[in-house]
Amino acid sequence: MPKKSNSAAASAAAAAAIKSSKAPSAAGKAGAANGDAKFIDSIDPEDPEYQRQLMRPAEIKEDLTLMEQRKRVSLILNSEAFRRELEEIVQSQLKTGGAQPASLDALRQLSDLLAPSASSSVAAATTSVLPVNDLRGGDAAAYQPEERLLRCKLAAVYRLVDLHGWSEGIYNHVTARVEGASEHFLINPFGLEYREITAGSLVKIDLAGDIVDRGCTVFGVNKAGWVLHSAIHSARPDIRAIVHLHSNEALAVANSRCGLLPLCPEALAIMDEVAFHDFHGIVSDESERPALIESIGQKATVLLLRHHGVCVCGATLEEAWRRTELLMTAARIQLESLRAAGGPDNLWLPSEAAVAAGKAAAARSGANGWSFGQLEFEAAMRELDGAGYRTGYVYKEPRLRAPRTGQGSHRSRPRHCQRRRRLWPPRLEMRLMLLRQRKQLNLTLLSQPKRNRSIGAAA
Ligand SMILES: [Zn+2]
Repeated sequence: MPKKSNSAAASAAAAAAIKSSKAPSAAGKAGAANGDAKFIDSIDPEDPEYQRQLMRPAEIKEDLTLMEQRKRVSLILNSEAFRRELEEIVQSQLKTGGAQPASLDALRQLSDLLAPSASSSVAAATTSVLPVNDLRGGDAAAYQPEERLLRCKLAAVYRLVDLHGWSEGIYNHVTARVEGASEHFLINPFGLEYREITAGSLVKIDLAGDIVDRGCTVFGVNKAGWVLHSAIHSARPDIRAIVHLHSNEALAVANSRCGLLPLCPEALAIMDEVAFHDFHGIVSDESERPALIESIGQKATVLLLRHHGVCVCGATLEEAWRRTELLMTAARIQLESLRAAGGPDNLWLPSEAAVAAGKAAAARSGANGWSFGQLEFEAAMRELDGAGYRTGYVYKEPRLRAPRTGQGSHRSRPRHCQRRRRLWPPRLEMRLMLLRQRKQLNLTLLSQPKRNRSIGAAA
């Protein structure tokens, strides 16, 4: 038996959705009674329904028809079967690469809009790339806009950690302090892998370790995570984000007597902000909090935890993420250099003057109008969104190309080139794509033969 095509499957799902509707409409009853209405001899002039329709003004008839059509479209869009079929089509097109990128994006948007609740999305995490932003409808309305954006950004950082290969199953943590509630911070639910973490799954806890908002999962919070992060968050109000990892590179530097060496620009950019904390066992004992606070002091932003890992901090998630990248690069270069040199004694270190000049240059670097780490973070979000992660990130600069001005500008180009050159912000572009897709869906449904459109009514 030949396999049913995706479009046929979607049509079948749509038909099933209509079929499962409750009471058939009056027009549907008339259609069923009369059979196929395109044959003039199938009309019964004595039929009271036919006579009633004859008496109706054209505008009322049109309104009724539109209402009926809208009802059908609404039934299909709200159908679980349709959503499943649509998601299957998107996944199938992703695998085969058969769809045009624009139409695939539109399908994704539609599928995402119709996605079921966040809790079931988490359960389906193993089958595909789970959208970072799973806050829809009531889930989204439950949070202030600032917290919504923070949740999206934090969940995106978990995905970045995972993509860089720095995650360790369900362990370690990245936290962000909630705007307007300095004693609350968001942390990962203890039980999800980093690739499963979404904006809605993050847990909100206070500095005392009590859960304020459990998010959409059944999980709680790792105690060691709370002890470590709450100690730093409580002692340093200037720190609003902390990335805690157990990566090999960071641990190797933390365990070295030489510490972080000035072997590359990345190391020079952060080495004055590094502090160390000695190992006292796994950080699940609250008695270690004072020692942690003393170790990080009031200036450090990178706390290397000997025999444990690292905490990289920032005034924003962007800052913390950028410092994490710098630390990991510096640590990797240091390991390679030590391996090549055969030990620290054989390393060629820069002069003190060169180190000072390098640090000064690093402090001056950065783009105008962008805070530390913001430019790099925005680029990382573009990469994630381009790969289908749907981060929910609000871009500071959504347009990558500057508009041309002066002679030889786009004004002298043909009109269709001008249109192509116009770059909409991505969110607006997505919205337009979704609207176009909806319109297409409406047209498709309305263009079906009347017999198909009346399936539900005739059943
Ligand atoms: Zn740890």
